[in-house]
Amino acid sequence: MILIDGKNISSKVKDEVKNEAINLANLGIKPGLAVILVGDDKASLTYVNSKEKACKMCEIYSVKKTLPASTTEDELLNLIDELNKDDKIHGILVQLPLPKHIDENKIIEKIDPKKDVDGFHPINVGKLSIALDGFVSCTPAGVIRLLKEYEIDISGKNAVVIGRSNIVGKPMANLLLKENATVTITHSKTKNLDFYTKNADIIVVAIGIPNFLKADMVKDGAIVIDVGINRLDDGRLVGDADFENLKEKASFITPVPGGVGPMTIAMLLNNTIISTKNFLKEKK
Ligand code: NAP
Repeated sequence: MILIDGKNISSKVKDEVKNEAINLANLGIKPGLAVILVGDDKASLTYVNSKEKACKMCEIYSVKKTLPASTTEDELLNLIDELNKDDKIHGILVQLPLPKHIDENKIIEKIDPKKDVDGFHPINVGKLSIALDGFVSCTPAGVIRLLKEYEIDISGKNAVVIGRSNIVGKPMANLLLKENATVTITHSKTKNLDFYTKNADIIVVAIGIPNFLKADMVKDGAIVIDVGINRLDDGRLVGDADFENLKEKASFITPVPGGVGPMTIAMLLNNTIISTKNFLKEKK
């Protein structure tokens, strides 16, 4: 079994990002990322702070906008409008979830698709579904990067994605399809899940249920990518795959923590570099 080291690969991506950011700054365009947080959700605040820290480490100009939970939808739309027009900002990210009185879809659609480094805008989602270049959701993009770094050939493989969320499962399936895998998407209404997983060469599990994917659900030599992040009552962090038993059977497997998790921010920074380069091209 080969352990896929997301910590190491994410450091490699961040080093690349830093070099690119320095080069772009020398060309007169310093990459800039704005992160908006509405409300005081603790987990969201931690994510936003780590994004800000990562920007600093990678020479990316970062702006953190922290707004109270009472912020109205119009106020948030206005802020996005300002950031859309701000030349110093090349990427805009609105930390989800938003308070209930704000329509998430409306907010995501307000972000200029050219600055949508999270890849959630319908234009970017649409581009991915017809295999055009656009911004791709960071976590699934990170999974593809991991597979490529480990020289895992995706083409022609049976890939099963467990979970169909807009931020992980669906874009993951589209990316695997783009890489020529034969893709099956499964979800909570799927009957006989084992039937699909036992035939899979690559399994990506993203459901949010601790240790859900068991060793007897996969074939020998399967590649197991665990996107899940679950905090147990005893404080331990575990994935959606039963790592201890699967590691005997899988050919490659991602641990939790230290697998897919660290890739998300690295790919966000990478998307910010792509966006900045696109703006530079437009300026010329
Ligand atoms: P989500 O929006 O809650 O979606 C969960 C998906 O899992 C749904 O499509 C659901 O099916 C499916 N599901 C639930 N129970 C199932 C079952 N018993 N069998 C098969 N499918 C089942 O979750 P998400 O945002 O995609 O996140 C999934 C996990 O990934 C979470 O643990 C989250 O913390 C983690 N995550 C990690 C990162 C990262 O590493 N940076 C980023 C994002 C998410 P239905 O559609 O039928 O309800």
